Amino acid sequence: SNQIRVGIVGYGNLGRGTIEAIKQCPDLELVAIFTRRVPENLVLNEPNIEVLHISRAEDYQDKIDVMILCGGSATDLPDQAPYFARMFNTIDSYDTHAKIPEYFSIVDNAAKESGKTSIISVGWDPGLFSINRLMAEAILPNGENYTFWGKGLSQGHSDAIRKVEGVVGGVQYTVPIAEAVEKVKGGANPELTTAEKHRRVCYVVAEEEYDKAKIEHDIVTMPNYFADYHTEVNFISEEELKANHSQLPHGGFVIRGGQTGQNHKQIMEFSLNLESNPEFTASVLVAYARAAYRLNKEGQVGAKTVFEVAPVYLSPKSAEELRRNLL
Ligand code: NAP
Repeated sequence: SNQIRVGIVGYGNLGRGTIEAIKQCPDLELVAIFTRRVPENLVLNEPNIEVLHISRAEDYQDKIDVMILCGGSATDLPDQAPYFARMFNTIDSYDTHAKIPEYFSIVDNAAKESGKTSIISVGWDPGLFSINRLMAEAILPNGENYTFWGKGLSQGHSDAIRKVEGVVGGVQYTVPIAEAVEKVKGGANPELTTAEKHRRVCYVVAEEEYDKAKIEHDIVTMPNYFADYHTEVNFISEEELKANHSQLPHGGFVIRGGQTGQNHKQIMEFSLNLESNPEFTASVLVAYARAAYRLNKEGQVGAKTVFEVAPVYLSPKSAEELRRNLL
């Protein structure tokens, strides 16, 4: 067959989303999932998918064209990306923005040694939002970029809540502040602090009898996560948490307000409204898997970011078909 053969590393939210995304792409074939856990212990939602221990991946260098790395950014990807780039073309969604330059160079060295192609930090932010920030800035040099996230569930902030004493469970939503959004959309190019752009809304299940006022205080004063924001804490039952807060919605928008000519206002906006953050992110990863395969065929090896990948490489359609139907 002339399908692109894909492997998945890591079976979490993103790994599950990647299985779903591949199903919608007839030009891609899922070969296997690789995990650090005991493969037999993984409970998959569907049969007929090969699950292997991560140590078996080296035997698959002739059987897999692109590995989609679905590990976490904090500790998994810094180890896994260079390891896999020595054997495979790779895609990942590394999202620790401040460390991307360092991460790029580690993956670049590994991929150049092996002659593979690794597209890093793919997804929506970093990813599609990054492309839109770049485009807006290049097109409207005289202007200001704004990024708003949400309304959406932040996994990092939810984890932070769950570590507070007396907390049984909880989630945190990041919510853009409407007045700030209106000012930006109106082209006022305001100066905004982080607290003026987003507020944080928490739903928390407390241990029975535990002092709720203390929990609330511990959350709203938590440095880095909550202290600098307007934070709202709502106490709910475990049943409510399960019924109303077990999805992973997210989204947001990138806006640039610029001026051209005799002070004509120009507003560029790109927005996402996502019912499932991991399924959407996985769909982006899968489109870029196609690109990694094709770039590698052309001899474009080493690490790349979304900035270096032309849109034509993402589509299953030919350049001619795209010119006819989408241009
Ligand atoms: P996750 O569910 O925590 O999974 C991360 C890894 O943890 C998995 O690959 C899996 O590896 C392991 N794991 C998952 N569930 C487990 C369990 N029940 N027990 C033990 N181990 C488990 O994380 P995720 O939601 O998929 O997100 C992955 C990364 O994607 C995030 O860190 C984030 O940086 C990134 N992301 C980026 C964007 C973007 O726009 N760029 C958007 C969303 C997310 P093994 O199978 O090897 O154990």
